[in-house]
Amino acid sequence: MPHQISVMVHTPAHSGIGGALTYESDAAHTPGTLVRVPLGSRELLGVVWDEAEPPLPSGDHASIANTNTNEQPSLLMPDDPSLQNHAPVAMQLRAIASVLEGLTPLSAHWRQLVQFAAHYYQRSAGEVALAALPSQLRDLSTEQWARRLKRKPKAVVAYKGATQTIPTPTDEQAQVLADFATNKGPFLLFGNTGSGKTEVYLRAAQAELERDPQAQILVMVPEINLTPQLEERFRARFCPQWGADCLVSMHSSLTPAQRLKHWLAAHSGEARIVLGTRMAVFASMPHLQLIVVDEEHDPSYKQQEGARYSARDLAIYRGQLEGAKVILGSATPSLESWHHSRPATDTEPAGRYMRLAMPSRVGQGALPLVRRVDMNRQPYKTVFSNHLLDAMRERVTRGEQILVLLNRRGYAPVLNCNDCGWKSECPHCSAYRVFHKLDRTLRCHHCGFTQPVPRACPTCGNLDISPLGRGTEQLEEHLAELLADVRRPDGEPIRIARIDADSTRLKGELERQLAEVHAGAVDVLVGTQMIAKGHDFRRVTLVAALNTDGALFSSDFRAPERLFSLLMQAAGRAGRDANMSLVSPCEMWVQSHHPLHPLFEALKQHDYPAFAEQQLKEREQATLPPFSFQALVRAEARSQEAAQGFLNAARDAGAALADELLVDLYPAVPMTIQRVANIERAQMLIECTSRKALQHFLAHWQADLHAMRSAHRQVIRWAVDVDPLAI
Ligand code: ADP
Ligand code: ZN
Ligand code: ZN
Repeated sequence: MPHQISVMVHTPAHSGIGGALTYESDAAHTPGTLVRVPLGSRELLGVVWDEAEPPLPSGDHASIANTNTNEQPSLLMPDDPSLQNHAPVAMQLRAIASVLEGLTPLSAHWRQLVQFAAHYYQRSAGEVALAALPSQLRDLSTEQWARRLKRKPKAVVAYKGATQTIPTPTDEQAQVLADFATNKGPFLLFGNTGSGKTEVYLRAAQAELERDPQAQILVMVPEINLTPQLEERFRARFCPQWGADCLVSMHSSLTPAQRLKHWLAAHSGEARIVLGTRMAVFASMPHLQLIVVDEEHDPSYKQQEGARYSARDLAIYRGQLEGAKVILGSATPSLESWHHSRPATDTEPAGRYMRLAMPSRVGQGALPLVRRVDMNRQPYKTVFSNHLLDAMRERVTRGEQILVLLNRRGYAPVLNCNDCGWKSECPHCSAYRVFHKLDRTLRCHHCGFTQPVPRACPTCGNLDISPLGRGTEQLEEHLAELLADVRRPDGEPIRIARIDADSTRLKGELERQLAEVHAGAVDVLVGTQMIAKGHDFRRVTLVAALNTDGALFSSDFRAPERLFSLLMQAAGRAGRDANMSLVSPCEMWVQSHHPLHPLFEALKQHDYPAFAEQQLKEREQATLPPFSFQALVRAEARSQEAAQGFLNAARDAGAALADELLVDLYPAVPMTIQRVANIERAQMLIECTSRKALQHFLAHWQADLHAMRSAHRQVIRWAVDVDPLAI
């Protein structure tokens, strides 16, 4: 009697088939086994799944269904027997094609994590499961796979890199580590920049590795490329003891072969430490004991396409599921995590995270003095106030380094005709193209449309077209003129460099440029937020932030939170070397038209708690997250009417259930950038004070959305974003 086997594959999501498919096999297969199965005319990689849930009542595959893809439906045959859950006995099921031999099945915990993520973020489990596996598992043929498996795991490879002296913990570190050891967590490590958070992660990891000879540790960082030093620190700490292969990385710039190798090392338990970006939250780690989420506030933990999961939030879930401890660390926690870690008051119980604080910097390294420049008192169109320039000159002459932060790459945002008012709009998007002087192009940062700069105004022929506003590229140029007379201590002219998405497009460029800054070859570094994150620049004593005001009055309620954390991070780059600080106290300069704004007041005091308290009060009054829960539905269509029409019809369809569950459905509105690459985009906000009610609503409403599709042929795609980061 052949066995009926449930297999999770990545079916084209809009087919509405998101659950496991049924196949037959002569042998029983443990759930978690990787197999290849036929579907239509193709063969797909699949994961043997747990007994299929009983079929849902018809019309309601809500919790497993999903849409949003451009894939053609042609490869699916609607009556393919595999699509049946619990096929009637008479029906001829197709057989599993092959099993990927030699792999331990994926654990029940892993499958549960996938199932949860799929359900929570309204996607299919097959999509989430298969996206979490290295592509080579899918792409290698049976023969290639057999050859791959024959490669013998090497014996422990000795580590040849530098070892480091392990510092004695500071009092604050010791206290935090003691609290960590004796409590369950999850923990929010609220530690200033330079307070030694990384050292806490290293020590906590070390203790785990020693306590349990199998223990595995997952360390997540926002972007690995920005902090190559971190991987080095982990290697230098652990490889001497556990071998050069005890740590593997997981991020999107690995080659498919590397990704498979690292994934197998984690899956087999050989790799004791996985260091990765958000995707690593799905790493198969059979003995996971500790999860660290560094810079937990960073928006890059939220996936922005497909299943829009938050790796930070999934880390908390995974920790609970697997009994692994979780530490979230930040100098400027997300307001969500700050709120969840609130201490108990007389009237209210404590939040569900435990807050651990490290307010001091290690050694004598002082936090910078924040100086605000009132731009209202500066001559019109001033870019660098004279005071700031003087301070920069003085520091460069002394051999110190300076960071200039501006969140806008390119030369100038817009080219403008001074005669007729023509601006360099993108013909395909409702956005302006940005002037890039280096290659004299106008480039759209949304759709990528690039053209050479016109020699004359395309509308009126006027030759006098000039840049409006400033980007990093122009700033670099402008600064070079302003500081042309300044000499370094060795008598050489000043060196200015720029780091942003443009200057680092080539592989290895970012690492090379950062190394130059570390080596002291650069005096002034101009850049976007890329230069504010995590770097341990030792000679930086002055950080200047220009043009920050936009975020103070943004329509996105999270903009102030992001600005504050960016400025705190940037400030944290200054004064990291205590010896330097003794000679020359470090400073952070902020130029603003609203210097007395509470955000800058809090920044001046380096007072994140004050900032958080003020923001949380506002959020509570407005019932915004974390005091409510949100989801966004986005629709894309050839016309704005079609996109909004679909959303508003969906709103009508869900109105009754929403009423019952106290879920608010807002009217459809155009997205901030309404048109990208000639596609019109609209969105609709859904809000509720209960996460559970919101989840319940979304799960049922999905069926309505699917059902509506045929009546809205103009809609190209739509997708739900649960806990969206940008509204
Ligand atoms: P954070 O991650 O909070 O920014 P780090 O862990 O990078 O801080 O520590 C900042 C600096 O202080 C690093 O150069 C680190 O080597 C050093 N450091 C950390 N802990 C100690 C300690 N207990 N004793 C001496 N130096 C330390
Ligand atoms: Zn013109
Ligand atoms: Zn465009």
